[in-house]
Amino acid sequence: MQINQQQLSEVNRQLTRILQTDNFYGKRLREAGISSVSSPEDFEKLPFSEKQDLREAYPLGLMACKEEEIVRIHSSSGTTGTPVIIPYTAKDVDDWGEMFKRCYEFAGITNMDRIQITPGYGLWTAGIGFQNGCEKLGAMAVPMGPGNTEKQLRMMQDLKTTVICATSSYALLLSEEIKKRGLKDKIFLKKGVIGSERWSKSMRERISSELGIELYDIYGLTEIYGPGIGINCKYETGMHYWDDYLYLEIIDPATGKNVPDGEWGEIVITTLVKEGAPLIRFRTHDLSRILPGECPCGSAFPRIDAISGRSDDMMKIKGVNVFPKQIEEVLARFPELSSEYQIRISSLEGKDSMRIYVEASGTQDFKLLQKRVADEVKSWIGFTPIVYVVELGFLPRSEKKTKRVIDERYE
Ligand code: ZN
Repeated sequence: MQINQQQLSEVNRQLTRILQTDNFYGKRLREAGISSVSSPEDFEKLPFSEKQDLREAYPLGLMACKEEEIVRIHSSSGTTGTPVIIPYTAKDVDDWGEMFKRCYEFAGITNMDRIQITPGYGLWTAGIGFQNGCEKLGAMAVPMGPGNTEKQLRMMQDLKTTVICATSSYALLLSEEIKKRGLKDKIFLKKGVIGSERWSKSMRERISSELGIELYDIYGLTEIYGPGIGINCKYETGMHYWDDYLYLEIIDPATGKNVPDGEWGEIVITTLVKEGAPLIRFRTHDLSRILPGECPCGSAFPRIDAISGRSDDMMKIKGVNVFPKQIEEVLARFPELSSEYQIRISSLEGKDSMRIYVEASGTQDFKLLQKRVADEVKSWIGFTPIVYVVELGFLPRSEKKTKRVIDERYE
């Protein structure tokens, strides 16, 4: 999906804005002697930005406008030390709300819906993003925030919530509770809008069938506004994204070169109209691909495939490169297994070993199943893991994102 003229002129406005500041990208542009781009080829020569650049700008080094224009900041998780702070102008907040409203509209949600928002409020972009879009749409927000499942279920029944917004892990937890308590006839949910955490097809199907609702994947990241920059439509043919606000590229994570439409790689995002903290060619490390052709819904907004993982999730086991998605695909071939699994990698006497814990969906001969799963992994991926089949509900459920890969070699 090559950058068009309109997008190029917007990029040039962003470059001008950045060059007026002494932020990291302004310095990089001055060093490279670049002040504007005039063709797609020029654009592809612009340097990338990385999360590390954003960390180094802590606290407010990303600001690309006058301080009096900033109305809010958000922060992304600082799992590895220094957090990232993103400043927003009033227009940025408004643009983000418009994008989010569009997401709800693509999901067929209207101002007659009641939207229960369970992602966290605060420094995160999650809760407040869902809220902002909901208010712009004119729907009724039920701003719960995370946790307190008891109260969530009560409000869901009493307020007759029609839309649930959650991470996939929390949606699963809620659906299991609803089933366990026999509440299915007392809830009025029709749709779920699920945060961009990567989740498996089988998990999606379980939540959807247990709650009897349609599910929509929403995409976004704090560095680029937050959730709400893309969503699937009812045809479930990937996620439409808003190319009037953002330009997306897919690159080969190893070489940094753009790949043709349809090929998998890493998503790189350029903001086209952002004021507070514009970003040029930001490497997201999310893996996806541009889906060529037209969607049956007729929308001209381009599409990316569901996020298949992170380029930094790649595990090296006994010299073999493995992505969690590959393991997940093998597990999905066994109807006797549930969607929940955990991978642990450790080093035993200098040799890498992978243990896979996976929940059974019923009661079978666990021992036999373990052997069959291990053989299947061996024949498809090339090494033999140690497999433990465990009872349904054995693995931890999370209100946030479930950590599925634990690398004990580095922890
Ligand atoms: Zn569509």
